[in-house]
Parts: sequence; structure tokens; C-alpha cells
Amino acid sequence: TAQAETLEFQSEARQLLQLMIHSVYSNKDTFLRELISNASDALDKLRLEAFRDKDLQADTDDLKITLEVDKAARTLTVRDNGIGMDRDEVVGLIGTIAKSGTAEFLQKLKQAKDGAGTQDLIGQFGIGFYSSFMVADKVTLVTRRAGRDEGVRWESAGESTYTIEAAPDAPQGTSVTLHLKPADVEDGLPDYTEAATLRTIVKRYSDFITWPVQLAPEGDKAEGDKADGDPETINSRKALWARPQSEVTDEEYAEFYKHIAHDWTDPLETIRLQAEGTFEYQALLFIPARAPMDLFMRERKRGVQLYVKRVFIMDDCEALMPEYLRFVKGVVDAQDLSLNVSREILQNDRHIQMMRRRLVRKVLSTVKSMMTEKPEQYATFWREFGRAVKEGLLDDFDNRETILGIASFDSTHDAEKQTTLEDYVARMPEGQEHIYYLTGESRATIENSPHLEAFRAKGYEVLVLTDPIDEMWVDSVPGFNGKQFQSVAKGQVDLDTDEEKAEAKERAKDFASMLEWMTSSLESDVKQVRLSSRLTTSPACLVGDENDLTPTMEKMYRAMGQ
Ligand code: ADP
Ligand code: MG
Repeated sequence: TAQAETLEFQSEARQLLQLMIHSVYSNKDTFLRELISNASDALDKLRLEAFRDKDLQADTDDLKITLEVDKAARTLTVRDNGIGMDRDEVVGLIGTIAKSGTAEFLQKLKQAKDGAGTQDLIGQFGIGFYSSFMVADKVTLVTRRAGRDEGVRWESAGESTYTIEAAPDAPQGTSVTLHLKPADVEDGLPDYTEAATLRTIVKRYSDFITWPVQLAPEGDKAEGDKADGDPETINSRKALWARPQSEVTDEEYAEFYKHIAHDWTDPLETIRLQAEGTFEYQALLFIPARAPMDLFMRERKRGVQLYVKRVFIMDDCEALMPEYLRFVKGVVDAQDLSLNVSREILQNDRHIQMMRRRLVRKVLSTVKSMMTEKPEQYATFWREFGRAVKEGLLDDFDNRETILGIASFDSTHDAEKQTTLEDYVARMPEGQEHIYYLTGESRATIENSPHLEAFRAKGYEVLVLTDPIDEMWVDSVPGFNGKQFQSVAKGQVDLDTDEEKAEAKERAKDFASMLEWMTSSLESDVKQVRLSSRLTTSPACLVGDENDLTPTMEKMYRAMGQ
């Protein structure tokens, strides 16, 4: 048979391992949550694959997660009989980090030298399997993919290399054996070979896992005894979304969120929804406290899982959440769908579309009440996800008004604080008919724009829009509360009273020949030279035509080579 091969970790993986070994993360117990979470995913995948592929030679009886300890050897093993991995998967999934945004994450981590900053970042990233190295100085993983004859054995001390070799007798699924560091209770490292410790941790972090998590009885290895006694199931296995809300603690919801979102921080908001009637479903959704690093990368997945009658069906169910709410995480459990549903079927299913509409409205209304009841939390939400939510103004016509209602914008009213459109409208002085805005690259360039002068002089507030997406939606959204959006940099802006207009006409006569001369001299660069009431201190400014591209848009198109 093949010999053990020594391979190198990818460099990003190596850096993350170093972080784990030198354990910047204070709560080391969470390694167990990560391993149980992976085991649970592996069992979900096996059940699904066996269901889809009737020819798969897989054992699907008695699916479970087992914790085994060996006090003498000081090892803890987390075992599952799930889908397992083949050799390429072990190398690809365990030896490298495929998550998008890893490089960026490591860069930020380098910059944040202080302890608190790094903890925060790690919480944002989530390290999964590698967290084993917080508590172990060597990790052995043995795995066999369901349907394959031969398994793989992987081992590493978390330094720069690992070994990999064939494991002919490996049972189906995966076992991860941790060779534990010496317990050091003072340093926050309890003895993970103690049954009581494991029970507490599982209760705390993994109680809702729908598969049984069992504690194997420990035999007296020294005397060669077989372990006696029955394994003890230590999680309650209750699906959180199916339990009455009053019975579930905030901490339980938070742990569940961390499990499905692969996040290490508590969610910003938990949303529950129970629909009864002809199409029954339950939803448990979460708004994270922080935007993931890849929120704006292409191919970014959506975060809602679909279950059918408690059976996991798929991750990233795009039929349930529109793209602009891709940061929402959670579970939807439908009672009356076939276990066999495919993504294509879901996209076109009338019930699913109804469900999606309802879920979207629920998320938006949750944000709306956050706005009034928990303004600080809302501010966090908008800072993290506002840019994504604004995409909905282009995609989700039905909810446009609602989205505008939960949006906040910089404005000339207050340099520090953003404003809602409702507040803007409430401040509009007598005579102001439109909601004025100016788009640009930054607040500073906008503030210095001569376009603003006349508005300032009039005491009209102007929205300061600096996100690229703002350029797009302002053109397609007709208005808010019956008030039109009007760029202060485009077309004729009518700020004058009738009297002022008459005066301007007179003035125009006086200047007619000069304007004509200027227009013809500047012919190749401008369409027309006009007298303007826009300016109070600057002598002249460039104005776009009603239907022209804005300078930023022009730049964007040029950059795209058009
Ligand atoms: P994540 O769970 O966030 O993907 P992990 O580091 O925890 O990241 O795991 C990396 C990948 O390794 C998983 O996505 C999965 O494909 C694979 N993996 C880990 N543990 C198991 C397991 N027990 N069974 C099968 N595959 C596993
Ligand atoms: Mg994981």
C-alpha cells in the first residue's frame, strides 16, 4: 500500500493555524462546537445524497455523532458516520482555505495588532476545523467517503506540514482525534476528557443539533476491558424553530445562529415566523451583527437553508431570499414540499414565491421597528448592510417604498448623523417641492461642489449620496411620499419666486450677447452657457443636462471601456 506522504499547508492555512496554536481566541470550548457542527453537516449531506442517489452504497442506519475519550492517552475523538471525504477532499478542504476573503482577512489581522481587534476579526471569520489546534498539539483525522472502499488518514501538529496516507479499514464517515494539550484550568483550558465538561459544553453550544450526540462509555484500556454501559445521548435534539418561542432562550438562538452561519459572534436580530393554513412553514431568520467580508463579491451565496419536515434539504436557498437580502441567515422548514425538490422547481413554485414575499416583508418590517425601538442597533444594521439593501431599490419594485422607509442617507443637514427620508421631508421648508440630492465620490467633493450654493442660500437640505449604487437607483426610483428625487447637478433647477424670475429675464437680456459669444467660443466643450441663480459665490459651474450621465457614471462607463 501507499506510503504516508508529507504535504505543505497552503500559506493562508498556515497563518490561521499559527493563530490557533497561539490561541488568540479566549473561549477554547468552542472547538467542540465546530467539530460537532461539521459532523452534523456531514450527516445531513449523507442523508440527502443517499436519498438522491439510490445506487450509493452507503450505510444510513443509526446516523449519529459520538464523543470518545481516552483518559490515559489524553485524547478526545469526535466521530460521525456521515458522508466522509476522499483524499482530494481532505487535501482541498482541510489543507487549504477556500473561503473567499481569506487574504483580506489576514491582511486586516496583521494591521490589528492589539488583542481585542484580532479577537473581533477572528469572530468575524470563524475558523472551523482549525480551532482543534487551540486545545490539541496533534490532530488525527480518519475518514472514508460513503460508497468508497478505502479511507484516508490525515495527521498534523499544526505546523507547516501534514501527512496523508491510505487507511484501508476506516469506517464510513469521519473521526477527528485530538491529542489534548495538558489541561490548565487557570489558563481557561479545562480537561476535555471529563464527561461532565463535555456534557456542559454540548448542552451549551450544540443542544439543538438534530442528530444524537452521544458520549461513549469509557473502558479501562489499561486492563483491556471492553467499554461497558450504554452510550449516553447528551443533546436534546429539538429543532429550535419548532419549539415555542417562550421556551427558547436568547443564548440558544445565538448558538444556533453561530452553527448555521459559521459565525462566532451573536446575531444582531432574531426573526421568527410561523405560517399556518394550507401551506404551513416555520422560519427562524437572523440578521448578523457584521457584514461578511465577501458581501460584495460575485458569486456570494445567500444564507437561508431549506428544511422539509425537519429534514435538511439545501443550503443557500436562493428561491427564499432575494439577492439584496443575501446577508440574512436562517432556516425555513416547510411541511408540504417533496423531499425531492430541486432549485429549479423551487424558483417557479407558487407557494415558495408566496413564502419569499412574506419573509422579505418580515425582514423589512423588523428593520423598520428596529429603527424606532432600537436606534443604535438600526445604525449598526444600516452601516453594515445598507449598501446591499439599497440594491433592492432596483430589484424589488413591490417593496421600494418600504426600502426607502428604512434607508438612511448623509445629508447637508447634519455632518455627523445620517437622516431618514421621513425626517428629511418633515424638515422641508415651505415652497420646497422635491427631495434634492447630489451624488459624488465623497462627502468632501460634494460639499465643495458649486452646485450646492444656491440650495445652501435657500436653506434647502441636500442628500449627499456617495455609494456607487446611489447613482443607479436615484435614476429609477420616482420618489418618496409623493416627493420626487431631483439632482441639484442636473437640468434647470427652479428655486426662484415669480418676482425673481422676472428680474432674471431682464438680466438675461443685458447679458444676451455675452452669453452668445461664450456659447460659441466654448462650443466644443459645452452645449449652452446660461445665466444661473444656482451660484452665490462661485462665478460659474458645469451642469449636466436632465438626461445626461453624471460625471461619476461617465467615469464608470469609461473604466468599463465604453
Ligand atoms: P466550514 O465548516 O465552515 O466549511 P471547516 O473548517 O469547519 O469549515 O470545515 C472545512 C470543510 O471540511 C467542510 O466544509 C467540509 O467540507 C469538510 N469537513 C470538515 N469536517 C468534516 C466531517 N466531519 N465530515 C465531512 N467533511 C468534513
Ligand atoms: Mg465547520
